[in-house]
Amino acid sequence: MPRSFRSTLLGDLEVDINHDAQIGAMTYFAIGGSADLLVRPRSADALSVLLRRCYDDKIPCKILGKGANLLIDDSGVDGIVISLDNPCFTSTRFDCDDNAKALHAMAGADLAKLVMDTVRLGLDGLVAMAGIPASIGGAIRMNAGGVYGCISDSLSTVTCLTYAGGLVTYNKEDLVFGYRTCSIAEPLILSATFNLQECDPEVLRTKVKEIFSWKKERQPLADASAGCIFKNPMSEKGERISAGKLIDDIGLKGKTIGGASVSTQHANFITTTSDATANDVIQLIREIKKQVFDRTTLILQEEVVIWSRDPEIQR
Ligand SMILES: Cc1cc2nc3c(=O)[nH]c(=O)nc-3n(C[C@H](O)[C@H](O)[C@H](O)COP(=O)(O)OP(=O)(O)OC[C@H]3O[C@@H](n4cnc5c(N)ncnc54)[C@H](O)[C@@H]3O)c2cc1C
Repeated sequence: MPRSFRSTLLGDLEVDINHDAQIGAMTYFAIGGSADLLVRPRSADALSVLLRRCYDDKIPCKILGKGANLLIDDSGVDGIVISLDNPCFTSTRFDCDDNAKALHAMAGADLAKLVMDTVRLGLDGLVAMAGIPASIGGAIRMNAGGVYGCISDSLSTVTCLTYAGGLVTYNKEDLVFGYRTCSIAEPLILSATFNLQECDPEVLRTKVKEIFSWKKERQPLADASAGCIFKNPMSEKGERISAGKLIDDIGLKGKTIGGASVSTQHANFITTTSDATANDVIQLIREIKKQVFDRTTLILQEEVVIWSRDPEIQR
């Protein structure tokens, strides 16, 4: 994107701009390339105008959450990456009275912090999300969750920005949430509200401890990863099969390409060393998919979101 064009696109907007921003380093993998432009809007108005201009001018535009489910290709990312880390996009508010307890959270708010806030305040509804690194927007987009529940369980409404820069609010009933999917078609989740229930903080604290020890026992939490790399595939009988078990059964635990390895603790995690490249991870993903298909005819689908300049790689 030429610099003159950048100044007409962004020059009059309340935004902070980083050229050639090292966004790979901002992900949980902490590897990969840069974005042509990382833009941090300082107001909702600036964000809405920015989205509309990107849409009108056909400039690719992506939303970065906490980067916990993202792999940035070594060649980097075209267009604009938007980060919602300004305080106007990370604020939260609890509305509690005798009748109802609700949480209003902007999309950039930190889910892990909110889980602990709800525990302290004795409010149930988000504790199932303990141990899942995410922003509120990223968690809703992915319908993040696991054996204890998912983010959509306590969701009440979601407010999104449309490509035209307008606001639209959905009740949960208007949306379809599935396994790591949601039906939101708008490019940007701006905020959400959750219905919470009063609960003894001690009960919630015990639940959080239980979830953390469950995860610690099974997942390589100390290593760089993006959580589960693949979705659990569907069997012919319509049941989900554990992708980790499939990968383990064909002996791929510990398989390494460059600085990327299949975790020996949980075969659906790829962990990386600091000298790994995104290409190491991409090659390992391809190798796992090939071997699983050759042995089982099942096609593994990535849960991790990959951003690349190469349309063949991006998903
Ligand atoms: C150690 C570890 C453990 C994990 N465990 C789990 C687990 O148990 N369960 C689980 O489901 N996941 C798990 N994950 C994956 C990750 O935590 C979730 O997918 C999470 O929802 C990602 O949120 P994020 O804010 O980091 O999104 P990102 O990774 O930044 O982005 C993910 C996708 O969401 C989109 N997005 C982000 N914000 C917005 C927004 N405001 N509006 C629109 N789109 C947006 C991005 O464009 C991208 O497509 C784990 C990851 C790690 C590293």
